[in-house]
Amino acid sequence: MELELLTKNRQRRVALLSISMLQDTLEQEMLLVVYDITARKEAEEQLRFSSRVFNQAHEGIIITDIHGIITDVNPAFCEITGYRREEVIGKGPHILNSGRHSPDFFNRMWTAITEHGYWQGEVWNRRKNGELYAELLTISALTDDDGQSRHFVGLFSDITQTKQQQETLELMAHYDVLTKLPNRVLFADRFTQAVAHSKRTETLLAICFLDLDNFKPVNDTYGHEVGDQLLIEVAMRLRANVRDEDTISRFGGDEFAILFRDIDSQDECEFLLRRIHESLSQPYSVNDLRLEISASSGVTFYPNDNADLDTLLRHADQTMYQAKMSGRNTYKLFNPAHNRQTMEKQQWQQQIRQALNDEQFCLFYQPKLNMRSGEVFGMEALIRWQHPERGLLAPSQFLPLIADTEIEIEMGQWVLKQSLSQLEAWHHAGYKIEVSVNIATSHLQSTHFIDDVEIALAQHPQLDSRYLQLEVVETSALGDIAAISKVIKLCRDVLGVSVALDDFGTGYSSLTHLRHLTASTIKIDQSFVRDMLDDPQDYTIVDGVSGLAEAFNRQVIAEGVETVEHGLMLLMIGCDHAQGYGIARPMAADKVPDWLNHYQAEPEWINCAARPLTARQQALYLFELTSQRWYQQFVAAMNQSDEQPESWPIIDQRKCHCGSWIQRVKTQGLFDALWLDRLEQAHAAWHQTAIKIREMCMTGQAAKSRQYLNEMVSRFEAMQAIINSAQSPLKQVVSGPRQEDNNPEKDRAID
Ligand code: C2E
Ligand code: MG
Ligand code: MG
Repeated sequence: MELELLTKNRQRRVALLSISMLQDTLEQEMLLVVYDITARKEAEEQLRFSSRVFNQAHEGIIITDIHGIITDVNPAFCEITGYRREEVIGKGPHILNSGRHSPDFFNRMWTAITEHGYWQGEVWNRRKNGELYAELLTISALTDDDGQSRHFVGLFSDITQTKQQQETLELMAHYDVLTKLPNRVLFADRFTQAVAHSKRTETLLAICFLDLDNFKPVNDTYGHEVGDQLLIEVAMRLRANVRDEDTISRFGGDEFAILFRDIDSQDECEFLLRRIHESLSQPYSVNDLRLEISASSGVTFYPNDNADLDTLLRHADQTMYQAKMSGRNTYKLFNPAHNRQTMEKQQWQQQIRQALNDEQFCLFYQPKLNMRSGEVFGMEALIRWQHPERGLLAPSQFLPLIADTEIEIEMGQWVLKQSLSQLEAWHHAGYKIEVSVNIATSHLQSTHFIDDVEIALAQHPQLDSRYLQLEVVETSALGDIAAISKVIKLCRDVLGVSVALDDFGTGYSSLTHLRHLTASTIKIDQSFVRDMLDDPQDYTIVDGVSGLAEAFNRQVIAEGVETVEHGLMLLMIGCDHAQGYGIARPMAADKVPDWLNHYQAEPEWINCAARPLTARQQALYLFELTSQRWYQQFVAAMNQSDEQPESWPIIDQRKCHCGSWIQRVKTQGLFDALWLDRLEQAHAAWHQTAIKIREMCMTGQAAKSRQYLNEMVSRFEAMQAIINSAQSPLKQVVSGPRQEDNNPEKDRAID
């Protein structure tokens, strides 16, 4: 009999008491042997413990021999893999192989085990039912006392769920949930890679910004679900039409971005874009609905447009907007040079805004004169920029930079305010003149224009609004003649402010404007006025516009009156109101009173106006005026033929002013036919000499040509004699053009 006893001493050792009856003794003798079995007991306990660990662990455990043959697996292994213990014992772990890992993967694993005694990593395996699962596996080599590997033990836990969560997170972090397209983050990542590739391979890459046309109505009409389905279909079509190396991303809403890699030429990219647009514009069928939609896109190329991703996207976006503006369903390519100009313009606009705040702008004023009476009846306010570094700048140097912007309107409001204050000050000082203010087209077309004028006028309740005239360039009406007509009527009827059509004759349909716009004044454009002395066609235009204005009961004023002759010719035509350097250049406001006090009306204009002329007298006078002018122009051209070879007056005797005059009066029956023939011959003879001289000058014989000057003078005099024979009564008032007017208030720096 054996008994296990626990010793009572501190060491609590286990003893085995063996009691046996001794056989060969007479007496009943017993042998008591006590063994110390503490160590054995401990080893047994250890084994039992190990076995519990093996059986109860949640991790799968797989033990193989040195040849990789499975010798044991624990219940968790069976639970995870679906295999029973008996099914796997004697087999290799390859039965779990998913085929997801390359042979190289396993080679690296075994190398690590051999070298370091263990390996840890993630492995995709397959359960008995074929399902894939991910495990975090640690394989250790078990060595015996000699250090020899005898077994391998693999310990693994099922991490499939964690992996899936990770993948979902990854998807959410890098992909758009609806279309499963890469999002901005991933797009940016791909862009960085593409830039490196582009540099290495010296190829282009393109960034395209694409926006669906009219997507919002689809959403609004059919609901978001249909909208979402449409977006998914759009994403699919986009995917189908780009190459593997390209990346499409949904940036939100109906905005997509495409990164084209490895582009050899812009043409190649354009080919892809055409394909995309073609595909997107095909009808869609969503929930039994047939939908039609298109897209607009803008593209920029790197490194031609050498910028970071944000800038490239902005450029592509701006260009996409141009595609929208040009009628949608198309793409546009970004132009870096054009962009530079836009940037410069924006910088200028900022400067101009600042200058407006810093009160660097001021108004100059140019007198408007009634040549017949000599009365200065108004001033035109003309803006100037007193630039701290560049000096006084004319409007042509800054107004185009703010055309159609908010600043242009702000500036217009400032000009209105400023000129009305000035007007009131002049009225207080006893100068009862009117002020005309130029109005920018965008301001005129803004919804608050009438309010702006009304507010400006309200600041000066003492001022009679009839003293304010608004100058509207004729071309403003090109946009919407009905709207402009309404504004002009409101100005006149509600505000009591008159309107002048500025630069008249430069529009495409001046007659329509004259008919439909109730402007009280027509301001003949200076280009016609300036050249009317030299070009009979311009004369005809000025004459015609003046006649039309009279017929339509409008005031007419000519701008660009540079000489006394311009004024005389205008008076002949019947246009009495004038403005121009021949009267005064625009001047600073504080110079105006002094100028008004000292202005002497031009005696030749007053004289001319004082004599009532018959049609015949007027015609003769016009001939004299233009023939003298022609002669002066010719002599001037002779003297500077080397410097300005193009400055000759019209040499064709039928097309010059006098030639046109002769043709015109022939039909009017004002003069005797024989007399006209004589004049025509004299005029032709004069031109012959002129042609001879001109040819010599143009062939480097200017000095020699002077021998014909006497002939030229005598032929001119012969022609004049014929004119005189018809008794021009105005000969005495005609003199040569003034070289210079003696007005001290000239701002030559800018005009
Ligand atoms: P505009 O309204 O037709 O003004 C007449 C322009 O012709 C002025 O140029 C004036 O200095 C110039 N001028 C006047 N007489 C003569 C002449 O005999 N010969 C020549 N060659 N030129 C003459 P400026 O001041 O440079 O203004 C140019 C244009 O800028 C104006 O043409 C007007 O359209 C615009 N502008 C000027 N001030 C303003 C303003 O306050 N607001 C707006 N919106 N536009 C303005
Ligand atoms: Mg004007
Ligand atoms: Mg003008």
